[in-house]
Amino acid sequence: MLGLMQSQPLLISSLIEFAQRHHGDGEIVSRRVEGDIHRYTYRVLASRSRQVANALDSLGLAFSDRVATLAWNGYRHLELYFGVSGSGRVLHTINPRLHPDQIAWIANHAEDRVVCFDMSFLPIIQAVHSKCASVEHWIALCDPDKLPADSGIPNLKSYEAWIGSQKDQFDWPQFDENSASSMCYTSGTTGNPKAALYSHRSTLLHAYAAALPDVMCISARDSILPVVPMFHVNAWGIPYSAALCGAKLVLPGPALDGKSIYELIEAEGVTYAAGVPTIWQMLLGHMKPAGLKFSALQRTVIGGSACPPAMIQAFKDDYGVDVLHAWGMTEMSPLGTVCTLKNKHLKLAESEQTEIRLKQGRAIFGVDMKIVGADGQEQAWDGQSYGDLLVRGPWILSEYFKGEGGNPLIDGWFPTGDVATIDPDGYMQITDRSKDVIKSGGEWISSIDVENIAMAHPAVAMAACIGVAHPKWDERPIVVVVVKPGMELGREELLKSYEGKTAKWQIPDDVIFVDAIPLGATGKMQKMKLRELLKDYRLPGL
Ligand code: AMP
Repeated sequence: MLGLMQSQPLLISSLIEFAQRHHGDGEIVSRRVEGDIHRYTYRVLASRSRQVANALDSLGLAFSDRVATLAWNGYRHLELYFGVSGSGRVLHTINPRLHPDQIAWIANHAEDRVVCFDMSFLPIIQAVHSKCASVEHWIALCDPDKLPADSGIPNLKSYEAWIGSQKDQFDWPQFDENSASSMCYTSGTTGNPKAALYSHRSTLLHAYAAALPDVMCISARDSILPVVPMFHVNAWGIPYSAALCGAKLVLPGPALDGKSIYELIEAEGVTYAAGVPTIWQMLLGHMKPAGLKFSALQRTVIGGSACPPAMIQAFKDDYGVDVLHAWGMTEMSPLGTVCTLKNKHLKLAESEQTEIRLKQGRAIFGVDMKIVGADGQEQAWDGQSYGDLLVRGPWILSEYFKGEGGNPLIDGWFPTGDVATIDPDGYMQITDRSKDVIKSGGEWISSIDVENIAMAHPAVAMAACIGVAHPKWDERPIVVVVVKPGMELGREELLKSYEGKTAKWQIPDDVIFVDAIPLGATGKMQKMKLRELLKDYRLPGL
């Protein structure tokens, strides 16, 4: 017997329709590439998203055709989120920090027909347009008078002229909720990038889950600043969850420095912000010397890389802001776990609560996870046993776009490439990427643990731990460190700070001071590059 409830497909268009109807005067505030602050409402966002849909019809774009963006977080990008996917096309967000050759490669692989870009990225488009055979239309996200006269890009249009001539009436089509809605290429540290292809159903389920109190706790009372880019895993799905709840959205555009972010948080009464650790480091670096405080910010979700304990502590002790440590990946839409306490933890001392908060957190309903050993056997949830982390669920990839890389699943589970422990309460903690694991004398050393201790030193701006060959122990850890501007730090002083905080054999054998650690297109440390740079390095005494 089937249930007798209405069967309605879960579609992205329903989010913007809902936001318009129930939160029509809810605000969307954007810092523009032009430098000024722009503000309008969900009502106008919905209306302009419909103009986008009509404009795509006018170009003759078919269902599932790809429309790419190279854009910062801003209102025009948001209109494309709803207008492109809502009308049945696939939004392909491209990371502008990738090498231009890689951008051309993925635009060809995705067979993008339209590319919409912020004017900051005009030089990239000028460099790649002749290599993008499938692209028929180039749209600059600007007013007609900002369009360069001699860009050299054929068929270049201004976004405002393109959508401005369209009606703001459009009947969102109804179709199978499993249809593709958007796509994002992984950073591709090995081989060519591969794309995760999200569906309307996966996006809506993720949007519901992300808004839950134990996840991002998003409500109509929030003013949300996603510093995480809309060009990488849909800004962790925040644009969708914000529309689902009618939350105010504050979009930072290209100004990601500590001062600009702080000013936006204060001016717009931001209650909740989301970003990677490096962004928050810049923010705290701006606030601390000036003695600045937050007036409305309550919580921040930090993920993308391990959040150093010192940062969680600084947010809590100095600013009264709760950090929610989160973990996920492109292939997971991206949310997998978020760290929030359980009822029984409320009785614990502050320091014991902090111990828990440092972990990457508990699985969200919808995400099933397990850790397995080298033999594929499931490992115990005892907080000690390490294993490869595998996940499954309705917003987790089943295969890559165009079947690249073959079947990625192991008995229906997606291998994340991360190594983790899970404790008896279900709190997962990442110890490493599997390819970064350091094996010393048959024991594993967590590079994240080594980095976290270095990061707790007040003079350290960034730290990366890698393993180097050792004749007796196979590998020994060393730590590569960037010192904060104007501060001094010696090798011995840093090594001394490890004493009492970790087992002796886990203390790195050496410290290497560098001006910068190579970062990838999504802000993660590129340890492969670091190992390459240090390939002639020898441990002291060898
Ligand atoms: P991406 O697909 O580019 O978003 O990268 C996903 C990867 O980032 C994960 O597989 C992890 O290795 C890493 N990552 C994400 N969040 C965290 C976190 N909170 N702690 C440690 N690593 C993380």
